[in-house]
Amino acid sequence: MTSARRDGDTWDLASSVGATATLAAVARAMATREERPLIEDPFAEPLVRAVGVDLLTRLAAGEAAPGDLVGQVAIDGAKVRTKFYDEFFLEAANAGITQAVILAAGLDSRAYRLPWPSGTVVYEADQPRVVDFKTRTLAALGAVPVADRRVAAVDLRDDWPAALRGAGFDPGLPTAWSAEGLLGYLPPEAQDRLLDTITELSAPGSRVATENRPNPEPGDDDRTKEGLHRISEQWSAHGFALDHARLRYFGERTEAAPYLAGRGWTLTTISVRDLFAANDLSSLEGDDLRMGDVRYVSGTLTQPTE
Ligand code: SAM
Repeated sequence: MTSARRDGDTWDLASSVGATATLAAVARAMATREERPLIEDPFAEPLVRAVGVDLLTRLAAGEAAPGDLVGQVAIDGAKVRTKFYDEFFLEAANAGITQAVILAAGLDSRAYRLPWPSGTVVYEADQPRVVDFKTRTLAALGAVPVADRRVAAVDLRDDWPAALRGAGFDPGLPTAWSAEGLLGYLPPEAQDRLLDTITELSAPGSRVATENRPNPEPGDDDRTKEGLHRISEQWSAHGFALDHARLRYFGERTEAAPYLAGRGWTLTTISVRDLFAANDLSSLEGDDLRMGDVRYVSGTLTQPTE
């Protein structure tokens, strides 16, 4: 039984919003095992295994047929998304940015698998049980971060900059920020606060990457919820109960790209549909969750506004 979202709710990697991080890692593990993989995340499978949900472990390890549970569209979505953020961080690092902040890091292993230039500090922020689990699990596997990895165990609806500064974050340096797969799990006003805080903590030349989901037309949210209910029932029938529609905040919110642009960021965007086409992926046909309409956003802070 999935509880409805409320202020101050918490989770581990097998429950509530935390489970979405594990599902994202399942899709990365499956993408990594493809014949000519577009992405390679060798830590995804062992991390999912350590979470300890048998069905997810078997899917990540290729021991269970994905059937309807993880469709090709989910795997392809994980590929283009991972590639987009990997390239974002590597371009920022190659341009001389030495400080990166991965907000809502989940089971993201970029600090361990990207070729960061020496001297790069990578901060990962997520809920305490999520970041602690990843730190412990990867250490037990003998994995060593490529960058100087530091964690901020925080709730991103709260005063998270204090924890980030406490871990050594320097707002005087240009930063590369990502908020990947996060915004829909924040209440609208917490999203605005998060984007404001990113801007306040950004020295000129900082970069940001996130997603922009268009506001719903009448009927869109109901269709999305129906799609999510259908997916939840399929998972439930296989013994993994998670009501996806209860995890997200629906309705109107400010769209991330125009909001950031209004605060001095110069951005480019590309839709998931275009990224699928650019990578010769065709599985978006029949997309009933409006995934193709999501736009990946990236850009630079040219002129901070008051
Ligand atoms: N970015 C990772 C990825 O793409 O694999 C994880 C994405 S997962 C869909 C959503 C993540 O957002 C989870 O790791 C969850 O813990 C984190 N998250 C959502 N709301 C949060 C909050 N209020 N505070 C901290 N983390 C949050």
